[in-house]
Amino acid sequence: MLKHVAEGVLVHESEFLQSNAVVVQGPDGVLLIDPGITSDEMAALANDIRELGQPVVAGFSTHPDWDHVLWHANFGDPPRYGTARCAASIHDLLSHADWKDRVAEGLPPEHADEIPMDLLGLITGLPADAAQIPWDGPTVRIIEHRAHAPGHAALLIEERGVLVAGDMLSDILMPFLDLEAADPLDDYLAALELFESVADDVVLVIPGHGSVGGAEEVRARIQQDRAYVEALRDGDVPDDPRVGPSAPLYWLPDVHRWQLQRLAQKAQNEAHE
Ligand SMILES: [Zn+2]
Repeated sequence: MLKHVAEGVLVHESEFLQSNAVVVQGPDGVLLIDPGITSDEMAALANDIRELGQPVVAGFSTHPDWDHVLWHANFGDPPRYGTARCAASIHDLLSHADWKDRVAEGLPPEHADEIPMDLLGLITGLPADAAQIPWDGPTVRIIEHRAHAPGHAALLIEERGVLVAGDMLSDILMPFLDLEAADPLDDYLAALELFESVADDVVLVIPGHGSVGGAEEVRARIQQDRAYVEALRDGDVPDDPRVGPSAPLYWLPDVHRWQLQRLAQKAQNEAHE
């Protein structure tokens, strides 16, 4: 079920973790961002798009995590873009003979059988300095940063004031750090600063998972994510409902504790170097 959220911008919310696929209408077709999770729901989305009377003319993946790089044959075969770093990261995964097993390890068991792997990750990397998505629809600015995952990009649909945030600015998930990176906390704070710098132009935020939020939510979510990351940095207990006793997802407090552990290990390793 496609929902209109702004002029020429539609969202499909998946059953899995409130994942949001975003459809942006251009004159000759749509741009499809992070298409969805299960085969059935992507086929249904392809139908909904067909009913708009427009083909899919481009795809984009906000980052190289499995839940953002899936595809369905019914979307057709347009170029599927990501940042150069995103493409490099997913191509590296696909270069391993056992990549399907590696991906399968991270899949949610309740949906694992319904997630199509055959077109996973066939991403064309954009030039490292690409400022916008190459298509003839409304200008979609690429805001690349290093939080959460390599080559993560948020997208700003400038004329509509819509920020497609990827796996950040969620009302249901606290920041998930890229713990493989050298400076995951600084990277995250820098990305939030980038969002802050465009916040005046944003009237709607669409997170990769969670609810679409209005203008006032944009700043509130930047604030909330920053407070969480700063608490991790400063060794404070975050005052954040997403990881508190009434967390919206029961497993989030565990992920929070795991992030704390990993950061502590990292600090220890660095002290010994
Ligand atoms: Zn995700």
